[in-house]
Amino acid sequence: MDMNLNIGVIKGDGIGAEIVAEAMKVLDRTAEIYGHTCDYTQLLLGGASIDAHGVPLTDETVEKAKKCSAVLMGSIGGDAKVSPWYKLEPSKRPEAGLLGIRKALNLFANLRPAILYDELKGACPLKEEITEGGFDLMIMRELTGGLYFGERKTVEENGVMTAYDSLTYNENEIRRIAVRAFDIAMKRGKKVTSVDKANVLDSSRLWRKVVEEVAKDYPEVVLEHMLVDNCAMQLVKDPKQFDVVLTENMFGDILSDEASMVTGSIGMLASASLNETKFGLYEPSGGSAPDIAGKGIANPIATILSAAMMLRFSFDLDKEADAIEEAVARVLREGYRTIDIMSEGKTQIGTEKMGDMIASYIV
Ligand code: NAD
Repeated sequence: MDMNLNIGVIKGDGIGAEIVAEAMKVLDRTAEIYGHTCDYTQLLLGGASIDAHGVPLTDETVEKAKKCSAVLMGSIGGDAKVSPWYKLEPSKRPEAGLLGIRKALNLFANLRPAILYDELKGACPLKEEITEGGFDLMIMRELTGGLYFGERKTVEENGVMTAYDSLTYNENEIRRIAVRAFDIAMKRGKKVTSVDKANVLDSSRLWRKVVEEVAKDYPEVVLEHMLVDNCAMQLVKDPKQFDVVLTENMFGDILSDEASMVTGSIGMLASASLNETKFGLYEPSGGSAPDIAGKGIANPIATILSAAMMLRFSFDLDKEADAIEEAVARVLREGYRTIDIMSEGKTQIGTEKMGDMIASYIV
């Protein structure tokens, strides 16, 4: 069925415009081949919004984003040592815009795939016998609850300074992300590893109970529970065992960074933040890389793979997403590399050429 894809685009700052341009090129080519059309709405966020409006996020951006089916983003932020954006108070800086839009759009589920392509295994810090054949896992982190959003205070009690942070989850917050995790597992390897600390924490015991209830609706998906300390070890011992790793906010914060670093290539890592509808914000895991901005050397693959995730999760265009992922794999197989993933004997190319090649390999 032909579709008109209504996509918001936040180019952002630093390398943002360069990498988003390549992702749009690949999206346009994919749409052309599969009979869809892409309708883009440009949105301002972060430093670009500060320059235009004095604030990192405007109501206009939020309203326009809400009218889109999904938003593709480059990255926001600048070099804090030199950029005038960082002379502003923290609530007016570029990163505040990102937190603001996540909140305004109720993006509670953060997805970070960690894929080790066999061709890039040289960048992986793990031993070869562990990574042979590559791995492909997805960390699904709850993003709007738990310890980072609980009540906190620092008080003096009997002359001793004491700090409190509270970790709270209600069953609805757990259920909605568990449903998302099982839906996504159905599109992948049909396994969910739910990570908690149920031997200690009440919030984890409730987490486990609700996840088990949700699992009953997905008989095809295998569910296992794992304690977070064990998961941290297993990610480096045997990452191939994982498909979807479902976890709460703080555990996910730590585990998603661990999982992405075992791949060794920041320019390759996509991410998505979803709400209860099909809407999602899709962006590379890396930042705006001001050190290489404007040089035409940034790796656009993370953004291109984020666009593939967008087709898969917001538009249910699985074939089209597969085509993009396969085109990326082919470019790597043929030995083309941007500078960040370059190794001996390979062919180094720039941002634009990488986008051109991936677009030309869409079938
Ligand atoms: P960074 O991810 O921008 O850069 C870290 C290193 O990785 C740099 O050497 C950079 O050149 C390299 N790198 C990152 N993406 C790359 C790519 N696509 N291709 C090739 N190399 C790449 O992290 P940082 O330097 O700590 O942060 C820079 C700015 O980005 C800061 O303002 C920070 O707040 C912001 N940031 C934004 C996001 C986001 O938009 N979601 C995420 C992280 C950081």
